[in-house]
Amino acid sequence: MSNFISELASELNLRKQDHLYRQRLVVDESTAAKLKINGKSYVNFCSNDYLGLASDAKLKLALQQATEKYGVGSGASQLVCGYSQSHQQLELELADFLQRPRAVVFSSGFLANLGVISSLLNKNDSAYLDRLNHASIIDGVKFSGAKFERYAHKNVEDLERRLKKPNSGKNLVISDGVFSMDGDIAPMSQLTQLTKQHDALLMIDDAHGVGVLGKNARGCIELANTETQKVDILVGTFGKAFGTCGAFVSGKEEIIETIIQKSRTLIYTTALPAAITETTRASLKLIRTESWRRDKLNSNIEYFKRQSERNGINLSGSSTAIQPIIVGSSEASLALSEALKHAGLLVIAIRPPTVAKNSARLRITLSAAHDQNQIDLLVSTLSAQLKSLGLATKHD
Ligand SMILES: *Cc1c(COP(=O)(O)O)cnc(C)c1O
Repeated sequence: MSNFISELASELNLRKQDHLYRQRLVVDESTAAKLKINGKSYVNFCSNDYLGLASDAKLKLALQQATEKYGVGSGASQLVCGYSQSHQQLELELADFLQRPRAVVFSSGFLANLGVISSLLNKNDSAYLDRLNHASIIDGVKFSGAKFERYAHKNVEDLERRLKKPNSGKNLVISDGVFSMDGDIAPMSQLTQLTKQHDALLMIDDAHGVGVLGKNARGCIELANTETQKVDILVGTFGKAFGTCGAFVSGKEEIIETIIQKSRTLIYTTALPAAITETTRASLKLIRTESWRRDKLNSNIEYFKRQSERNGINLSGSSTAIQPIIVGSSEASLALSEALKHAGLLVIAIRPPTVAKNSARLRITLSAAHDQNQIDLLVSTLSAQLKSLGLATKHD
């Protein structure tokens, strides 16, 4: 074997030894809150399809009809001929929904973060990142060549100390809205205040908040009663609550136009199919009109938390659909995930480097599509398994 290949082989072996090897499940089929793997059916507690829209009948129909009109692919970049009336309408409707000046659609959230940050910052500028920000934000900053510092999670004093240091270039503070592996929410009012005080722009990636949080589902900005114009850049994705795929960035005219002019991940990638942007428009309509989905999600979150507490399961205090059970070791998190799978429950173990060392966890996500029986089965199985591993506390 060449050195190159044998080096890869030994690295792969190390991963296996450390219980960090990753494998993709092959899903046979999926419907709301359930999926089938190897012919066996599981209740799905690891999808980000918070509102059950990914398998909604109206959206399936919207996709079929849009395919008749636009075909299955967009054929080119947005800047060549991949940008349709549907893309444009979706951008206008998003801006209206969010009450923000403008929006631009990207093919994914990962590409959006890379594109925005690298269009706005260069090597003379600085980015300040929450330590638990999504990987795509860190990669976006690296892609831009800007200097960057990571402040302690949600620690505004640490951020302020860093912002006070003299600095010549432009400054951008970036935070997840809802943190994707912990489910907690950024300190919105302190972030807006600090960034205005220190002449920095604020970017919030609210991939897990838009569509779900706030009275009108506008996300963590609305939930915190923050004036939306105090958040200079808002990123959201369609692959989660919207149930489709793709992403958007919204902000002032100058910001959005700069992104369209300069973003390599917008210019040099094929546009989303118009069939998908049409389906996403239909999804946005459901988000705006069918608030019962959010009510159902919230009552499922409440029910899960209440039943867990009654059964000695240690929760993290998250109030969102993301409910991590921190286990610590990767090995134990895998064993738990396997035991749940045996009981017909799909919950994935999240291990380093996605989360910090010794903080491997089960990441449970709740959906409007779950019913109480499914949540009961999750709680009773989880409680029994945690007890047998000596990881549950409290009574009985
Ligand atoms: C999922 C996620 C992304 C990436 O979005 P994709 O559309 O899946 O590429 C970006 N940021 C956060 C916070 C996310 O959770």
